[in-house]
Amino acid sequence: MSSSLPPLLPFLRQAEVCERDGFPLVEINGDAFCSVEYVDGLIGGQKVLGISEADDGTIELLFASGQILPLTCPCCGGPLHLKPRTLPEMRALLIGRNVEGFRHGEWVGKGSPPVRHPVFAVQFSGTEERAERTIEVALASVQRIRPRER
Ligand SMILES: [Zn+2]
Ligand SMILES: [Zn+2]
Repeated sequence: MSSSLPPLLPFLRQAEVCERDGFPLVEINGDAFCSVEYVDGLIGGQKVLGISEADDGTIELLFASGQILPLTCPCCGGPLHLKPRTLPEMRALLIGRNVEGFRHGEWVGKGSPPVRHPVFAVQFSGTEERAERTIEVALASVQRIRPRER
């Protein structure tokens, strides 16, 4: 491997979507995957067993399948900061719930011209308004799903 090229430019990435479902494609280990097909195979329908905070402040969900999903900010890919929730709040909201589905959308910044890029969302089971139990994340979350170390 001699490639140290930066990731594809945002406008190129934005144009790449899955023909079957319209979800954005993501690059994982050099291959393009449909984000929703990839994520569904790892955590679809799975229960949240635990929530922890990584050293950099990223909140991570542990699922019954043994996979870990870091929650990244839909605007910048860093730790969540748009809707500040404490770790205990996140635990109260999500532990014991199942992944019910996935959505995708577009992040539109407030600048001029506004920054636009695709975002991914995970919807959890529950009785609240759907928006209350849906977590929007950056595509970086999809790329960073990993199995728990054993
Ligand atoms: Zn697809
Ligand atoms: Zn952000």
